Amino acid sequence: MNIFLTLDYELFSGANPGSVENTIIKPTEKLLDIGDKYGAKFVFFVDSGYLVKLSKYIDKYPQAKSDYEKVVEQLKMLDEKGHDIQLHVHPHWEDCTYDGAWHMDTSRFRIHHFSKEEIADILSRYKKALTDIVGDKVFAYRAGGWCLQPFDKLKDALKKEGITLDSTAYEDGYNSSATHYFDFRGMPSKTLYSFEDDPVKEDEKGFFTQVPISTYDVNPWFFWKFAYYKKFGKNEHKTYGDGIGAGGTSNSSMLRMLTRPTKSLVSMDGLRASLLIKALDANSKKDKDGNLVVIGHPKAVTPFSLDALDKFLAYAKQNDHKVLTFNKYIKNI
Ligand SMILES: [Zn+2]
Repeated sequence: MNIFLTLDYELFSGANPGSVENTIIKPTEKLLDIGDKYGAKFVFFVDSGYLVKLSKYIDKYPQAKSDYEKVVEQLKMLDEKGHDIQLHVHPHWEDCTYDGAWHMDTSRFRIHHFSKEEIADILSRYKKALTDIVGDKVFAYRAGGWCLQPFDKLKDALKKEGITLDSTAYEDGYNSSATHYFDFRGMPSKTLYSFEDDPVKEDEKGFFTQVPISTYDVNPWFFWKFAYYKKFGKNEHKTYGDGIGAGGTSNSSMLRMLTRPTKSLVSMDGLRASLLIKALDANSKKDKDGNLVVIGHPKAVTPFSLDALDKFLAYAKQNDHKVLTFNKYIKNI
């Protein structure tokens, strides 16, 4: 398979977003140490709204300036080393303020809280923040919180910004809450397809390419273990990231996961990284020439997850799977 190791490069969205050093810089370096052993490159979906907002405070606050410089420097280094820098949009940064510490406001978490004109402006500014750093290489999108639908509100703006690829959808994905909405149920069971008006409806003549995040059927025992380690886990299960996320899994979906098999995202985060090899085998069995898109977050890296990623990359190499970036592969097909 073609493996894409995608990482949403971002702080937490809760009241304490975490420090840049521990939540982004350090865990990203640790991921690179593992990737470098195998010559594997990552795809970073960068939450550039954070950078746009942070840049407004660099003249007034030395901490903001140093955070900004650290992130820009790391993104430049990642680009130079051949990793992908792509666009991840969390529009709530529009409402957050800084006075030496962040005051988070996630009341407009979904991009759909904004008008079509505001969305066009947000996408344009957020993409420019990345192209200013890495040049004209940004053409892939991942929606913040998977909030990609209804797509008609974003479609024209994404086209205008030269975004041709989306990697947000995943099979059976559904969430409808006060903060989130997406419905990916019934999407094509393919690892790449074209679309135009709805990211989960194939349209052979469509402008956009969907490369969905891969899924894997996970047994309930895993989530029991997951809950246990969350509560009683030792240091190897502690994240380097030091912030707090917004919200969590609802009680009803937790109950579902603890009682019957559920489709879960193929992820390199925390304990989930222990399922990577099984997920690769299962997906490869279905479509050996297809794509395996793994999701992850520097903020969710743990010593345990790094070890599991190391084993996964060794296994992938042994079995002739390729680890690619979107710039290296998708752009040329
Ligand atoms: Zn995100």
